[in-house]
Amino acid sequence: MSQNLLTEAKVFEEIKKAVAETLRVDEGKINPETSLIKDLGAESLDFLDINYRLEQAFGIKMARHFVLEHIEEMFGEGAAIDENGQLTDKAVQLLKIRFGDSAPELTHGMDMDEVPSLVTAQSMAQGVMDILDSLPGKCPKCGSAAWKSGNGVRVSCGSCNEAAAFANGDDLIKDWLKKVQEEKKIF
Ligand SMILES: [Zn+2]
Repeated sequence: MSQNLLTEAKVFEEIKKAVAETLRVDEGKINPETSLIKDLGAESLDFLDINYRLEQAFGIKMARHFVLEHIEEMFGEGAAIDENGQLTDKAVQLLKIRFGDSAPELTHGMDMDEVPSLVTAQSMAQGVMDILDSLPGKCPKCGSAAWKSGNGVRVSCGSCNEAAAFANGDDLIKDWLKKVQEEKKIF
């Protein structure tokens, strides 16, 4: 289901804020296609910090593991990364479905260490939107369908005030992998 309380523009605004505060860069330097690693020099620990800020802002749980780790967990060791530390063809195929045109550098034989540099402000925003879209139709506590958001960031029930609970990011990646596998039979 797709929620329509929180807009992509608002999500992007929060991403910019979180990235700017964590990396101490000007918000003006952050565009949708900005790579956090390549363009802004982010390191792995910075991602924890950025994720934490987004979790606090939206009341969500971001994915702790990247798609590649989920592929290996679901389809076996070596499914995503070969013995040379390079992406398998199947992993490339899958990541292309997920990141589409936003990752033209995604190619056969790409080193796994280069993959995190594919994370852009836009792909982070998409990850947050996917989580927000898991908003259930009705409040699990009182059954009302009157979700509201006062500040455009936090969602709560318009009847009982209960904070909205969303699916967590890792579960959504797993669900997505299962769905793509059923449709495309990549592995
Ligand atoms: Zn309620």
